Amino acid sequence: MAEPLAELRSEVAAFLAAEQATGRFAPRCDAWMRGVDRGFSQDLGRRGWLGITWPTAYGGRGQPHLARLVVTEELLRAGAPVASHWIAERQIGPAILRYGTEALKHELLPPIAAGELTFCLGMSESEAGSDLAAVRTVAQRDGDGFRVTGTKIWTTNAHRAEFAYVLAVTDSAAGKAGRLSEFVVDMRTPEVEVRPIYDLAGEHHFNEVFFDGAFVPEGRVIGTVGRGWEQVTAQLAFERGGPERFMSTYPLLQALAAGAERDASAAEAIGGLVARLRGLRTLAWETARRMDAGEAPAQAAAILKFLGTSYEQDLLETARRLLEPGSEATAAMLADVQLAMPGISLRGGSTEILAGIIAKDAEVAR
Ligand SMILES: Cc1cc2nc3c(=O)[nH]c(=O)nc-3n(C[C@H](O)[C@H](O)[C@H](O)COP(=O)(O)OP(=O)(O)OC[C@H]3O[C@@H](n4cnc5c(N)ncnc54)[C@H](O)[C@@H]3O)c2cc1C
Repeated sequence: MAEPLAELRSEVAAFLAAEQATGRFAPRCDAWMRGVDRGFSQDLGRRGWLGITWPTAYGGRGQPHLARLVVTEELLRAGAPVASHWIAERQIGPAILRYGTEALKHELLPPIAAGELTFCLGMSESEAGSDLAAVRTVAQRDGDGFRVTGTKIWTTNAHRAEFAYVLAVTDSAAGKAGRLSEFVVDMRTPEVEVRPIYDLAGEHHFNEVFFDGAFVPEGRVIGTVGRGWEQVTAQLAFERGGPERFMSTYPLLQALAAGAERDASAAEAIGGLVARLRGLRTLAWETARRMDAGEAPAQAAAILKFLGTSYEQDLLETARRLLEPGSEATAAMLADVQLAMPGISLRGGSTEILAGIIAKDAEVAR
């Protein structure tokens, strides 16, 4: 296994170095959310690096999750513009693969693996962020499909997406376990409206998305109607369990290692960060191994994101203290990360909520 993965790693790294050398992209932090370049995603798709773990029948390469981890580590290390395909490839594809009908798999997995589709995530609502069970968006049966009505918020890249994943209530009388269902909504449906929200940096990636009776055919239900809670819990493992939870800021670590004043205390601080990164990588590899075994390791993913967030916060503090913003690019990177940091501890599950999940697991294990 080690050899083919090493080969894959050097292939991806060489491609990225060449693309960067031609000026196609400049490394940036948080590029998996902010670096949007559809053509770049399609190039990755042509090389077989998206959906790499999926069966070939659905456009994948039938490789282990460790291979996907190698590809994603290299993309994040380079700060490459991968946001166009990221959500679709990271969690919607795996959710469809796990729960979707054959028809849905054949319809959506090959174009996701080709880097041709952008998905947005319609989970959060103004009164339902940490507590997703409280979503109010409803999906009512209508003939051979459903009509979706409600408002989602903080929907990253909804203005660029062809499709939205939407978590909605299909049985308001049922308890948490039977209340929710998952849908793929075509963003070109006339009853869908996207309104921008600008973040601290003045960038537009968030949105509010309004669904006013948007029709979703039965074939675009993910999995079983009423099993949305169980299914979304598995999906969150794919959302939280990847290396972007500690490598969003890798270009900043590189700038710090190259540019900081080198006295003994700086070396100690940077060395400490590198050691923590090493530990986080070990956790990510363990999580990928468990995915290879068919699990959706929710607890391991929560631990990874919890520790990854605290590492990224400490990296920023260390960079602020030690980094001489010699070049304009370094100063801009530092400012970028500073403005993105409040979101890092919230997106994909806040630190307090993850601490709760980890503590509950510890209680069960005692
Ligand atoms: C950069 C970014 C991108 C995002 N992209 C998307 C997206 O594409 N799609 C999407 O659906 N959502 C997205 N979100 C929303 C994100 O998932 C939510 O912000 C997050 O789940 C928290 O929900 P909330 O904002 O409603 O905060 P709340 O749930 O209101 O929480 C506010 C604070 O209270 C704390 N808190 C809440 N409940 C508890 C509790 N029981 N115990 C202890 N503390 C608690 C939280 O930890 C948090 O600090 C994004 C958010 C960010 C910042």
